[in-house]
Amino acid sequence: MPSEFELIRKYFERPAKSAVLGVGDDAALVRPSPGMELAIATDMLLEGRHFRADAEPRALGHKALAVNLSDMAAMGAAPRWAMLGIALPGADDQWLAAFAAGLFELAERFGVELVGGDTTRGPLNICIAIVGEVPAGQALLRSGALPGDDIWVSGALGGAALALEHPEIAAAVQRLDQPEPRVELGMRLRGAASAAIDISDGFAQDLGHILERSGCGARVHYAQLPKEAAFARLADPALERRCVLSGGDDYELVFTARQGARGEIGALSRALNLPLARVGSIQRGAPELVVLDADERPLPLERGFDHFA
Ligand code: ADP
Ligand code: MG
Repeated sequence: MPSEFELIRKYFERPAKSAVLGVGDDAALVRPSPGMELAIATDMLLEGRHFRADAEPRALGHKALAVNLSDMAAMGAAPRWAMLGIALPGADDQWLAAFAAGLFELAERFGVELVGGDTTRGPLNICIAIVGEVPAGQALLRSGALPGDDIWVSGALGGAALALEHPEIAAAVQRLDQPEPRVELGMRLRGAASAAIDISDGFAQDLGHILERSGCGARVHYAQLPKEAAFARLADPALERRCVLSGGDDYELVFTARQGARGEIGALSRALNLPLARVGSIQRGAPELVVLDADERPLPLERGFDHFA
């Protein structure tokens, strides 16, 4: 059985690139770029709660970092450094190698450096903290939406929730296990979006956070919401509605922007080759979301995922 230190060195220590000092000392040292604010977030993945015991370790390494990258995307921040706190039931070489491969593949793709962490024996639990940079004053907040703003959604919704009910649909399982954080989109939305959030707990719930922080309401047209392609073949409208409106784990961005930004956002969608759908508008009044069906009738809304329930 390798010691904790051998394990860290073997799987998680890489030569420091942008960090002044990476893994191996009592703390990492990093130097923020001039004029930047630091965006700091952490997200935990717990066996039984966020993934099954038999989850594929490579996908788990990907997802643990992806959910943190998604928080950077939602702030419009460029991810820079990450810390990995991990509790492991044992030192399974194959498992650790695959987990590290999934994590570092994504880290390299997004220019994030793993600069430290903590490793202990215990029930499997993965907690990554991430630090990003955003030009001072330009972070995308939840609180900036104004009445009249358009509401936009990236990519497609409902795929991750669909995978839980239809594990035979590969595209949906891919969404659930290996979400693609919209980091580039978030950074390019600086100055264009008035508010943003990533969809981790369901479209209705997460847009609800923008409404509460911004102190306004919203009207959304269900037909305009972008939906995972597989729903078209399933012909199960109740399932589709539940997954699209309340399903978590899609890690798309929902953001608001002035109507004058439509051209700019359309151009951004083409530049990134990423669909951006205009789905509704911000309304004056109480922080309530109304989702209208094709006949302009409000749909009943379920609450999204509550991690504390
Ligand atoms: P300390 O006793 O000071 O907390 P540790 O022995 O826990 O130090 O960690 C030694 C070094 O290894 C530190 O630099 C720490 O950040 C790093 N480290 C520990 N676990 C991990 C991990 N899972 N991933 C990356 N770095 C880690
Ligand atoms: Mg420690």
